[in-house]
Amino acid sequence: MNSNNEDDTGFVYRKTLGHYTVHANGRELDCVLSSLIHKQLIYSTADPASLPRRVQAVRELDHADPVAIGDRVRFVEAGKDSGMITEILPRRSKISRPAYQRAIEQVIAANVDQVLPVFAVADPTPKWGLLDRYLVSAESSKLPALIVITKMDLAWKNKQLDTDLEAYRRAGYPVQMVSATTGKGIEKLKAALQDRTSVLVGKSGVGKTSLLNAIQPGLGLRVKAVSQGEQGKGRHTTTHLEMFDLDFGGTLVDTPGIREFGLWEVAGEDLAYLFPEMANYVGHCKFGLSCRHDREPGCAVRQAVVSGEINPHRYKSYMNLRGEL
Ligand code: GDP
Ligand code: ZN
Repeated sequence: MNSNNEDDTGFVYRKTLGHYTVHANGRELDCVLSSLIHKQLIYSTADPASLPRRVQAVRELDHADPVAIGDRVRFVEAGKDSGMITEILPRRSKISRPAYQRAIEQVIAANVDQVLPVFAVADPTPKWGLLDRYLVSAESSKLPALIVITKMDLAWKNKQLDTDLEAYRRAGYPVQMVSATTGKGIEKLKAALQDRTSVLVGKSGVGKTSLLNAIQPGLGLRVKAVSQGEQGKGRHTTTHLEMFDLDFGGTLVDTPGIREFGLWEVAGEDLAYLFPEMANYVGHCKFGLSCRHDREPGCAVRQAVVSGEINPHRYKSYMNLRGEL
């Protein structure tokens, strides 16, 4: 292989304080970005038309990291196992979150295939409002979601589960129930992860570490070591995430502590489209597309809530999120 090949490309697996770990052709390289390239990349990766004007004025733009976990990058080698990133190749998908008081977009992961919100059946009791937030995020990134319910050996503690999940099934979301303790559902989950890049979201305590260990021995501990490196750092420090290879094919990104993502550039009037079961009613209200589906007369969405077509909890989540946009 020609080590001076300027066309080398690889994927970003890890980043820490200006250093990017790039996997390319079975090798691992420690790469940097020069400050000049850094500035150019910000503008070449952001769509100038979509860049809010206020962003141009934000000095903190310098702190935005233009490279995301999962990015496919072109690099030039610069010595043994090190290099410099020269280009970020177009992203097939991305999940982002607003940063710096919603002034700029921070891309959390790029080239993702699916989002897996993880909740425990019990201990802790699922917070469906948070699931709705994750699902809206996935929809806004145009990514499919697979809802994972773990600790299913504790199912007896939650008699409501099937009723609660019905709303999600009806909205078209697949659900995979698993238990790290008994191994239930783990093979099916592995099949869903195989040969894809998946992003895991969920609060600590839901059992993600145990679940990852059940999927692949040792994986949970490796992922946990990354998330613990997070603590005690400044609020504005770039979140330290890492992508992991799965033995059976595919990659996985955990997102410890990231609650909000994907609500970047979602306009209030578009929110209802991100609830699949509501989308059909949009435009059928008396006030047409200007209806907020709040208290307007002749609202088709509210009518569907009353007639049981739309789950009231999902509708409540819609109103809560609408209030934030
Ligand atoms: P994380 O914080 O999401 O990484 O969660 P952990 O994997 O550390 O698990 C949190 C707690 O839930 C621990 O006490 C685990 O033993 C427990 N736990 C995890 N998975 C299961 C499971 O499948 N069944 C039961 N009963 N407990 C589990
Ligand atoms: Zn309406």
